[in-house]
Amino acid sequence: ELPPINGDFYAMDSKLNDTDRALQLKVREFMETEVKPIVNKYWLRDEFPFEIVPKLAALNICGYTYNGYGCMGGSSLMEGIIAAEIARVDASVATFFGVQSGLAMGSIYLCGSEEQKQEWLPKMQQMQVIGAFGLTEPEVGSGAAGGLTTTCRKTTEGWILNGQKKWIGNSTFSDITIIWARDLEDGEVKGFIVRKDNPGFSVEKIKDKMALRIVQNGLITLNHCIIPESDRLQKADSFKDTGKVLQMTRAGVAWMAVGCARGAYENALDYTRKRKQFGKPIASFQLIQNHLVEMLSNLTAMQTLVFRLSELQDKGELRDEHASLAKVFCSLRTRDIVSKAREVMGGNGILLEYNVARFLADAEAIYSYEGTKEINSLIVGRSITGFSAFV
Ligand code: FAD
Repeated sequence: ELPPINGDFYAMDSKLNDTDRALQLKVREFMETEVKPIVNKYWLRDEFPFEIVPKLAALNICGYTYNGYGCMGGSSLMEGIIAAEIARVDASVATFFGVQSGLAMGSIYLCGSEEQKQEWLPKMQQMQVIGAFGLTEPEVGSGAAGGLTTTCRKTTEGWILNGQKKWIGNSTFSDITIIWARDLEDGEVKGFIVRKDNPGFSVEKIKDKMALRIVQNGLITLNHCIIPESDRLQKADSFKDTGKVLQMTRAGVAWMAVGCARGAYENALDYTRKRKQFGKPIASFQLIQNHLVEMLSNLTAMQTLVFRLSELQDKGELRDEHASLAKVFCSLRTRDIVSKAREVMGGNGILLEYNVARFLADAEAIYSYEGTKEINSLIVGRSITGFSAFV
């Protein structure tokens, strides 16, 4: 009788109360039964599985931490657990969900007026309205804080937006996209809710990605796009407000990395116990066990870190550098874990059907988005040294 396969070695999940534990298992069950069987097919085709959206919505987990507007008003810890559970089976679905629930809804929740929240959040919570978040540009990625070239200008017709946005997840089919643009008058970054049928707004799908292939990323062009004042995020006055959204979602990405690492580790462990060479399960070889233990050590360190991260968030004590440190550490360690998972599986490690190759590829995107390793390290570096090394 072999021990159960369980990537929660320090029993972190036992810290959850019964209700939260039940929700975690509900999300896990959904991912195992509804998503896992179809995910490789969609990944390979570079397509999004729209069929799962109503079922995902029915779990009632979208916008989990927000108060009101049909949202649960739950803890950040539980929100993190949900993100990890989704990513444990598929990082693309976790990213789709993170863009909807975190980046898009979060922008409206943190930076919108009461009317804007009433108009959009209940429908987004139900996933009847899908959102996207457009910050990055073709020529401006890491340097978005000071370098945005997309412009907005207030006129008698409304706000006029011009520019391009690259990599925008969900944007090929989203109903609304939050667009961040620099005001030509005061030089500050402002946010806009741009509807998909708005004249001057067009999206081209970014094809042939080798990671997160299910996520539909778009290149957006804003060509004299006129947006009414009522669709300008009323509480987004500068990039500091954009930063509030990113702080929250970066913490979520750290949890996603944990989920991705856990999925890869558990699949690899399972494989090594079944695969036989030299007449024995390869899991019985010392060098394979060493790889597995290294993976588990990193995974366990990541799990304890994100639990504490969410505790800080729930106490209202989370700072940018906390979120950045977690994002750097977890996405870096995940890259290592998925590559070891692939290694212990030999040739089968690169076949999609063995459920590790997809994690191996997807970890590359998690590593780069929501701030690269360098940028998040510089945010931590600035906070511990007192010197900014950005420019
Ligand atoms: P660059 O900024 O060009 O960086 C290239 C390299 O230079 C990196 O290694 C970087 O760390 C390094 N570098 C840059 N500046 C410095 C410095 N000062 N010091 C040291 N090193 C430096 N954006 C959105 O707005 N919305 C989305 O929904 C979205 N989804 C995404 C999904 C995917 C799959 C991907 C890959 C990206 C997504 N992005 C999205 C964009 C993402 O946030 C950017 O890719 C990321 O911020 C890095 O920007 P960049 O790719 O332009 O790289």
